[in-house]
Amino acid sequence: MEYAYDDQNIFAKILRGEIPNKTVYENDHALAFEDIAPQAPVHVLVIPKGPYMSLDHFARDASPEEQAGFFQAVASVCEMSDLAEGFRGISNTRAHGVQEVPHYHMHILGGRPLGRMLQP
Ligand code: 5GP
Repeated sequence: MEYAYDDQNIFAKILRGEIPNKTVYENDHALAFEDIAPQAPVHVLVIPKGPYMSLDHFARDASPEEQAGFFQAVASVCEMSDLAEGFRGISNTRAHGVQEVPHYHMHILGGRPLGRMLQP
């Protein structure tokens, strides 16, 4: 699979500081910030700082350090948010996954019962 990263996507602009965000956590390899249109009391997006389009792209091509940094950010967001009752991590991917922003991100959603994973 060929991945053609578009550096004009909105999360690339956030990473470059061209668009403001409400940062909740940052390390060398990842940034976590509040979703602009929250779907639950907790709705944080965790993104790698590198140019990866999707979960499969990141899993294939990101270095071990980038992957560790990303998941360390996920762990920190979970720890600092009110998620003891549980949460959902979602990575929508391409057309069938209804991915709107072509920079890999994991939604961390929680703070209320979320219902079943997929509509019947
Ligand atoms: P996707 O559909 O790609 O999985 O999710 C993209 C998410 O990015 C959506 O939940 C949307 O609300 C969020 N989003 C889009 N533009 C912005 C923005 O400029 N700032 C922030 N914080 N979130 C955004």
